[in-house]
Parts: sequence; structure tokens; C-alpha cells
Amino acid sequence: MIRHLYFCAFLALLPLFGFGQTFGIVIHGGAGNGINPEQLKGEKAEAYDTALNNAIRFGYSLLEDGMDAVSVVEAVIVELENNPLFNAGLGAVANANNEVFHDASIMRGSDLNAGAVANVFGPKNPIQAAIAVMDKSKHVLLSGRGAEAFSASQNVRMLSEADKTNYIQAAPQPKVSKKGTVGCVVLDMYGDLAAGTSTGGTAKKLPGRVGDSPIIGAGTWADNRSCAVSATGDGEYFIRTGAAQYVGSSMRMLELDLQTAIESSIVEIDELGGEGGLIGIDKHGNIGWHFNTKGMFRAAHTSEMPKPLVEMFSK
Ligand code: ASP
Repeated sequence: MIRHLYFCAFLALLPLFGFGQTFGIVIHGGAGNGINPEQLKGEKAEAYDTALNNAIRFGYSLLEDGMDAVSVVEAVIVELENNPLFNAGLGAVANANNEVFHDASIMRGSDLNAGAVANVFGPKNPIQAAIAVMDKSKHVLLSGRGAEAFSASQNVRMLSEADKTNYIQAAPQPKVSKKGTVGCVVLDMYGDLAAGTSTGGTAKKLPGRVGDSPIIGAGTWADNRSCAVSATGDGEYFIRTGAAQYVGSSMRMLELDLQTAIESSIVEIDELGGEGGLIGIDKHGNIGWHFNTKGMFRAAHTSEMPKPLVEMFSK
């Protein structure tokens, strides 16, 4: 009898140490109509496939090792920001004045704390600047020079002047409409959710323009009571519909499942004439994604899946 009680107590404690809890990660690398099998093939398609495969395997291995959700989002987005294939960090597009500005955000589902930076050119990895805002300030969103100064004061790694010149030279010219905002949503083995998004914004954007990626509720959302979501696409439409938060609210209030909630959020955008996609993971580890463009770079791996799923085109 006593032994039986000990055994039951042992089973009850297992989730506290992460055993038995489903965990998983979903990433995106942007959505657009240029992501189609006619235009994206051969070595270029392989490069994206490899980048997505590497990032999802890396993130999943960190989760298996017991890393917490925010740290996994940070590590994976840093990897994607450092990859010039994507429109974030090193690969960010130039604005109409041929300048580069980054936007990024992070949200933690356990306490709904969040941090974001907009219109910055200084932090090497803008997602780390967003995390510094969340963890080390009482604010949610810092922009421009104030955000850059705050990041430097918090020991976020900053670009040197030489790095900045490289970033500007590497930026696709404004006439190239490059897609490739990056996003990552995670459920860790402790049952906590987190979401992050990072971008160079839309090509040819007006100086000063801020899209959805650093706007909590539009481009990024995480709430342990529902799901974690990251968006990509025409940011103005995602701001106007509150796209990411819409998914969480539809789950909590209308009791929609994650995939249905994501699809209905994209319907809202579609009806206004916007284009893009959303990825998500819910508190049970179900994954979801949907987009109204020809493709979206995306990948997922959860402890319920035998291997990672990596896709680019619509089906
Ligand atoms: N959503 C981003 C923005 O509007 C761009 C993108 O995802 O392609 O800044």
C-alpha cells in the first residue's frame, strides 16, 4: 500500500520535471507569392530547405535538453537572423532610402510579459534587444535611438561601424521584394509557451515605417492558456486585424482549435486584401499554420512527431 502511494506520488511529480509533457517548436521564414515551385528551385530551394531543417533540428534538440521556451525562441531566431537568406538581421532588406532597420519582438506565455524593438540598426541580433526590453525594463516596446542606446546599456551585442556597412551592402536593393521575416513558437517541456518574430520589414518601406513584427498581438502572441503565434506578410493588415492575438482569443473565447483559429485570422486579412501567413503551437503541443500566398517557409517538430516536417509551397 505504502509502496503504491510512493509510486503514485512519483508519477504525479513527473510533469514538474518535464517528463510526460508534450513539447515542440514551429518556425517560419516568411511567406510570399514568389515562394512557388516555378520560381524557387534547384540550389536556391535547397538552401532554404537546409536552413529550415538546420534551424528546426537545432531548436528541437535544445528543447529535448530541457531549455525553456524563451531561450529556445532566442537561440533559433539568432540563427535565422545570422543567415542572409532571410529578411531579418544580416539579410534585412533596405528601405526606400537604402537604409536598414530591424524590428523584433518576444512574448512569454507564462506571465504575458513581452518586449520589442522597432526601427533599430545597432543590435546585432534584434531578438536579443527585444528580450532585454522584456526582462530588463518596465516597457514593452522601445524604438529607434532610445532602443539602440538601451540595448547597448544592457550589453546586447552591437554592430560595429564596419558591420553596419556590410549589412547595408548586403541588403537587397529596394526594387527586390524579398520575403523572409523569421518567427518561432515553442512549447517547452515545462508547459510554457513563447513566441518571437524578427524582420527587416517590407522592402521599399518609408523611413520610420513599423510593421506588425514588433507589435505584440499583431505579429507575435503567447499565452499559456491558449497558444503561441508568429506572423509574416503585409504587416499593415496584421496590425489592423490584431492577427496573432485574434488566434489566442478565438481559442479561449470561441473554443476553436488552433488550426481553425489560425485559418479564421487569415480570412480576416484576406478579406481586407492582405497577404501572409501565421504559425502556431497550442498549450497541448498541437501545431498549426496557414497562409494565403503561394508559399511560406515553415517547419515543425514536436515530441509527438517521428521527425521534423519542413515545407515551402502550398499544397
Ligand atoms: N510582416 C513583416 C512586416 O510587415 C514583413 C514580412 O513578414 O514579410 O514588416
